[in-house]
Amino acid sequence: MSAQEQDKAAKRAQWEEINRAKALAKRQKESPTDIAMRPSEIKKIFQAIRGTRDLLPPETALWNRVENTAHEVFATFGFGEIRPPILEDSNLFARSIGGETDVVSKEMYTFPDRLEDHPETAKAIQDVMKEQPRLVGLAIATSAAIYPFISLRPEATASVCRAYIEHNMNQLPQPVKLYYMGPMFRRERPQKGRYRQFYQIGAEVLGGNDAPAIDAEVIEMVMTFFDKLELPGLELDINSIGHNAPECRPKYVELLREELRKVKDQLGADSQRRIETNPLRVLDSKLEHEQPIIAKLPRIADHLCDACKTHYAEVKKQLQLRGVIYRENWRLVRGLDYYMRTTFEITAKGLGSQNAVCGGGRYDGLVELLGGPPTKGIGFAIGEDRLILSLQDAGKGAVRQGRDIYIAWMGEHAYAAAVRTAKLLRNAGFSVELPPSELKFGKALERASKLDSRYALILGDNEVSEGMFTLKTLADGTQQKFTEPELLEFLRL
Ligand code: AMP
Repeated sequence: MSAQEQDKAAKRAQWEEINRAKALAKRQKESPTDIAMRPSEIKKIFQAIRGTRDLLPPETALWNRVENTAHEVFATFGFGEIRPPILEDSNLFARSIGGETDVVSKEMYTFPDRLEDHPETAKAIQDVMKEQPRLVGLAIATSAAIYPFISLRPEATASVCRAYIEHNMNQLPQPVKLYYMGPMFRRERPQKGRYRQFYQIGAEVLGGNDAPAIDAEVIEMVMTFFDKLELPGLELDINSIGHNAPECRPKYVELLREELRKVKDQLGADSQRRIETNPLRVLDSKLEHEQPIIAKLPRIADHLCDACKTHYAEVKKQLQLRGVIYRENWRLVRGLDYYMRTTFEITAKGLGSQNAVCGGGRYDGLVELLGGPPTKGIGFAIGEDRLILSLQDAGKGAVRQGRDIYIAWMGEHAYAAAVRTAKLLRNAGFSVELPPSELKFGKALERASKLDSRYALILGDNEVSEGMFTLKTLADGTQQKFTEPELLEFLRL
């Protein structure tokens, strides 16, 4: 091609690209549900977005095993399943988790909702905008949190408490014991064991009293669940963080702050800042050089009020009664005011730095904070992704993915019999692979073993005319002939 021709071809390609973009823009205008796509993206190969991933077979079988175990174990403790929505009003999380926390201020996936679903809010915004120039008015409405924002849930405790209030569950026999499982969303920096879409299995006990036996039973339930999964090397840390009354935690926090101020110069920037904002969080620090300093700080257990001290002692007694092995960890704290008394964390092996598989604690003030009646509450959340990683690391992750029976059929008559037999065997609960087209005998056996099948059921014209089935055990190559009832009996053994 001459230089002139090349130039012409390039111009033509450019025109075509522009026309395609114009056509796309026109289509989108006519049909606004079409997703905007730049011409350069038309041929793009898509990948799951950063921090999210596909869970695929055979691993999903392990996920199902974990989830089924949770359903079974939690039911034996009298818990019922709740399935809250994944989308919630952003303010639910701002109010419960706290607008200043990293989870809410930086990590939530939040977007403006359409105003047509919020007629009252739309009117309030219009009123603001009438008094102010349009853009300023809109900015005011947005920053004053009038504008309706919705978020993908970063956790589920707030949703469960909202549901407890919304459905007047305080009218039910107390306490109400609920569990959930499902995806959560936080825009964190992805790494091993930390994802932007991750899965939690959690439970909450709401209402009734705050008997230490409830705390102990909730912990016993999580440990029973982990035991059933045979997860080795678990460690349960517990602590009491008192409660938010002047003679209890606030007094300790002040003492801690004073002590921290004395050693401020030796601390890193984060801890220095936290002395004023949230001194308890300094105890979370993983910085090597801060450890000896933290070790000398006053411990909350020595500064609890009498009621919290008694509660903590009773929780420990109740755990011993249940044979639950724990370790006291005075540095296990929670930053929010409504968290109180019992806190616990479970760590597992094989996870590197992200080794916490479960966090939980008592939060008696939360339902009231969300506008409900004063309500006792305690719960936990298990990180399912990490639990799965830990099971795999411990060699407990294998789930058989092969088929029970591969039907090697040959001939038209045999095919009709094969379809009938597949239905019969599947109804009896066996996993059956029925090849959609005829294969030579050798090829069929090859496929059967590639699919890790236990047996090949051979169905040729001979078998059909005799009304018999030939069953080949693939592990040792042995073959036996059966009638239909004999076949079912043999397979069921
Ligand atoms: P939290 O709701 O922050 O108390 O977390 C409870 C549990 O959820 C943790 O112990 C982790 O196992 C798990 N978890 C929290 N954030 C993530 C994440 N981004 N990716 C995977 N698991 C997580």
